[in-house]
Amino acid sequence: MWTNSVDKALRERAEAVIPGGMYGHQSVRLLPDDYPQFFDRASGTYLWDADGNRYIDYMCGYGPNLFGYGHESIDAAYISQLKKGDTMTGPAGLMVELAEQMTAMVSHADWAIFCKNGTDATTMAMMVARNFTRKNTIVLAKGAYHGAAPWCTPVKNGTAPSDRANQVFYIYNDVASLEEAVRKAGDDLAAIFASPIKHDTFVDQEDPITEYAQRARELCDEKGALLIVDDVRAGFRLARDSSWARVGVKPDLSSWGKAIANGHPISALLGAEKARNAAATIYATGSFWFSAAPMAASLETMRLIRETDYLERTQSLGQRLRAGLDEAANRHGFALRQTGPAEMPLIMFEEDPGYSKGYAWNDALMKRGVYFHPWHNMFICAAMTEADIDHTIEVANDAFKFVRDAGKLPRIEKLAILGLLTDGH
Ligand code: PMP
Repeated sequence: MWTNSVDKALRERAEAVIPGGMYGHQSVRLLPDDYPQFFDRASGTYLWDADGNRYIDYMCGYGPNLFGYGHESIDAAYISQLKKGDTMTGPAGLMVELAEQMTAMVSHADWAIFCKNGTDATTMAMMVARNFTRKNTIVLAKGAYHGAAPWCTPVKNGTAPSDRANQVFYIYNDVASLEEAVRKAGDDLAAIFASPIKHDTFVDQEDPITEYAQRARELCDEKGALLIVDDVRAGFRLARDSSWARVGVKPDLSSWGKAIANGHPISALLGAEKARNAAATIYATGSFWFSAAPMAASLETMRLIRETDYLERTQSLGQRLRAGLDEAANRHGFALRQTGPAEMPLIMFEEDPGYSKGYAWNDALMKRGVYFHPWHNMFICAAMTEADIDHTIEVANDAFKFVRDAGKLPRIEKLAILGLLTDGH
């Protein structure tokens, strides 16, 4: 029996000592009401909440879990370095090895700077581009997420208009709007930012159209600006190289984080030779950026990326899930919108403008031991098995039946703050 009394009690205590009860992307505020906020442990594919309920976890920590929680050889590398020395007065020698390995794996990269979070890497990318060009304007895709610093956080409270000065927006995959944004930037263009795929929340995902990616490259070359691919979320999930290797386009800079140490805290900015001097002459640092244990974990993660079939496995598991869910949905008279690469699935319902079906279905899955997300892309990890996928499909089948039989579904009032409930309700 699924229960949540421990979670409820923790949430009540959190209300008193954590602003808003919880902050940031791991707040469950915009998820179905009963989604657990607090977790106890994680192992391989599974996650246990504070009440002891077990889930097959398709969020993978919002991306970091690539090879399975608590991966043996990655954590062994981490612990061994932790015992030798972690946050010291200077970096360990293995920092150089990690930079050598990542630049060998990522074809556009000749140098690496390590940092802690994805936002560090995207913010530094912006700084390197401005330093390289001595120009200010950044062209970005509307709705794309690049982190939570004042220049890019999606909620503007607490930021100044000047934090977002020198930004021009385009529509992802729309060549004409990209050209128009670059035209607006005039002779002040420092960089074009691109997500490796369109992986915005609440809307279908899109693979990059080759023509769009190539045009972004050309425009940067014409203007002397830098092309930045933000691979924080998708990095090494779609390719053993930059994600835009899939469309044959080399960025000048790429930001990485999330999965590069399978959950241990480290991120990176990688760059091409021409931006080396610009990278060497900005000042960016942090107390924990040089910690050695996450670097040791990342080195082992890199080895697994090179030497295992994790990529092909996560792709084929994702395809198995996609096909099974479509079939189960059809059986109950539903049609799904499953978009993006199969190993980074986003699953929403057709004819569900207020997300009511999605919320009810995700809630039913959660209470049956499968942790899905109704409006953010999910992740397949290499620890998942065919049996996990087949079990998920069975549970989903049950959840479809539950939603079909539930009759009129409630309006998801909590989404009103996002202005998402204007259509169809
Ligand atoms: N860029 C992208 C594409 C992301 O998905 C994220 C995190 N969700 C970030 C940047 C920011 O990373 P972090 O939360 O580690 O600062």
